Amino acid sequence: GSESGHPLLAGLDPEQQLAVRAPRGPVCVLAGAGTGKTRTIVHRIGYLVQMGHVAPGQVLAVTFTNRAAGEMRTRLRALGVHGAQARTFHAAALRQLRYFWPRVVGDEQWDVLDGKLKLVGQAAHRLGAPTEAETLRDLASEIEWAKASLITPESYPEVAAKVHRDTPLPVEQVAAVYQGYEVLKNRARMLDFDDLLLHTAAALEEHPAVAEEFRDRYRCFVVDEFQDVTPLQHRVLDAWLGARDDLTVVGDANQTIYSFAGASPRPLLEFTRRFPEATVVRLERDYRSTPQVVSLANQVIGAARGRPAGSRLKLVGQRPDGPMPRFAEYDDEALEATAVARRIKELVEGGLPLSQIAVLYRVNAQSEAYEAALAEHDVPYLVRGGERFFARQEVRQAMAALRTASAAELAGDLPGAVRKILGPLGLTADPPQGGAARERWESLLALVELAEELAAEVEGAGLSRFVAELDARAEAQHPPTVEGVTLASLHAAKGLEWDAVFLVGLVEGTLPIQYADGDDAKIEEERRLLYVGATRAREHLWLSWALARSSSSGGRRRRRSRFLYGLIPDEHPAARVARSRGREGGRGGFGQTPPERCRVCDGPLIGTMAIKVGRCGRCPSDVDEELLERLRTWRAQRSKALKVPAFVIF
Ligand code: ATP
Ligand code: MG
Repeated sequence: GSESGHPLLAGLDPEQQLAVRAPRGPVCVLAGAGTGKTRTIVHRIGYLVQMGHVAPGQVLAVTFTNRAAGEMRTRLRALGVHGAQARTFHAAALRQLRYFWPRVVGDEQWDVLDGKLKLVGQAAHRLGAPTEAETLRDLASEIEWAKASLITPESYPEVAAKVHRDTPLPVEQVAAVYQGYEVLKNRARMLDFDDLLLHTAAALEEHPAVAEEFRDRYRCFVVDEFQDVTPLQHRVLDAWLGARDDLTVVGDANQTIYSFAGASPRPLLEFTRRFPEATVVRLERDYRSTPQVVSLANQVIGAARGRPAGSRLKLVGQRPDGPMPRFAEYDDEALEATAVARRIKELVEGGLPLSQIAVLYRVNAQSEAYEAALAEHDVPYLVRGGERFFARQEVRQAMAALRTASAAELAGDLPGAVRKILGPLGLTADPPQGGAARERWESLLALVELAEELAAEVEGAGLSRFVAELDARAEAQHPPTVEGVTLASLHAAKGLEWDAVFLVGLVEGTLPIQYADGDDAKIEEERRLLYVGATRAREHLWLSWALARSSSSGGRRRRRSRFLYGLIPDEHPAARVARSRGREGGRGGFGQTPPERCRVCDGPLIGTMAIKVGRCGRCPSDVDEELLERLRTWRAQRSKALKVPAFVIF
């Protein structure tokens, strides 16, 4: 087609088009959440392919989670692009390694090690180092950090001391456990996840013939979420590229949430230093969220400290107005979860699809309360760290059972037979109430629905046809839709979006997480997590917290997250008046009066004193220190006087 009127450019703004149409070579898109970075790279791949600049099979796009990779594949398919690869770094490396392995290692068989804990435990035990569960977990993640940062056991003590690592044991001991772990792992002929990347890079670096073949096959590289790429992943990327520069990266330094694992936004921010001729595009229109959500996100990230130049972009909302973000406080976690479940049920009854709702939390252990509450309210859900459908245990079991039945030519017209075969695996007539069982059930039901689809499409289709269809889908990584509310950690939610998002458990000690306390860099990463969470919402955003873990631990009160200060419109005096008329009055009243704004930073003004002077007392630049101090003291006294913050419950 003709260049400028190409249909793939139609749904893009001028800056996005610039990135899409840039000639092959280095391209960098630096932009905030929801500005269309992922959309831009998907369209760029489609555009390059359709204009004949690159063959789809020559494209390798990498992203962060399996779910994000799946999302990218879905978007590519929707544009009619087939054959371009979109994978996580690990999945791409594993695939390549399988292919190259015989040539670089010979026919020796190695296995992929899922998780380090066991071998770390053995290594620690042999060295007489502490072996408590928590220490072992910390040691495993420390080893992961070291490997992702390309630090060997030998160099570990020196580097760790230099960067002031907060280590679980003295650095020499960590190094010894790290070394011991490597020995045990290699002896058992195992590769851990980091090894997959290390060996892929080494295969390309040390075997010119392998590198040549690879670089002949893949010519166009695209990396999403480039702000969270580790040095190890960079090394793989460099090995892929060789001397070429056909690389498109997109990212948002404000969404760096894996620096604990060795990631750094620096390569993103310094991309033009490496590629001076790069096309650089900045986007600031937010197409995902309502202006209300965008405003809250801007406030969250606007309060961040030490933001590097190049990350100080403000998002400008493009969508029509929506509801104000809501805040709610509960006495304990069970009450919080019940209220969220009830609210979700209302949304679903109001017509919002389950797949458009997510509950996001800081640590996975928080999901339990929500699983129970959602099950109780009969709302299907999926707990996802991004695990692929066809990799789930119940799906693998189901496929094996279907295959056996099909081989034995057990007949029966199609959905009914599938239902019967999957019955013993947990597909009961009624959905189970329990958490994991319910999830299993949903996966199995998705298979039955797929069989129903096939039966409707292909007359007389039997089991063998169904098994073939499933195999084809597994190969193409094209899972059926499993309907359910998403329960995910903030880390796993990166890059995704939902109409309604519940950010739960926003208390000190959880977000920010306890071990971040007193460490500015860690606190800032926690703040970015809240930014990532808030920017997942297209329309409805609820933020909640509970003052105690359980009703029985009532004595141990917790405080709501420090990041919420200044965000809650309910704290505006006008809203407080409405609240004082009681819950019902408050419900209609809060959020409707726009808070007045700080003269310096445009942040909200909280408290009559702040409103009087027109300064929030929180903004960093151009402040009158004395005035600030007065505000702080005043606020501290006031918050002591105001004992029970009676927030309006949803
Ligand atoms: P994140 O930083 O969270 O990964 P992102 O920058 O990758 O966000 P996308 O996921 O690509 O953003 O886009 C966010 C939403 O906005 C998507 O629903 C996308 O389809 C939509 N969108 C992007 N660009 C446009 C556009 N030009 N017109 C209309 N909608 C758009
Ligand atoms: Mg994205």
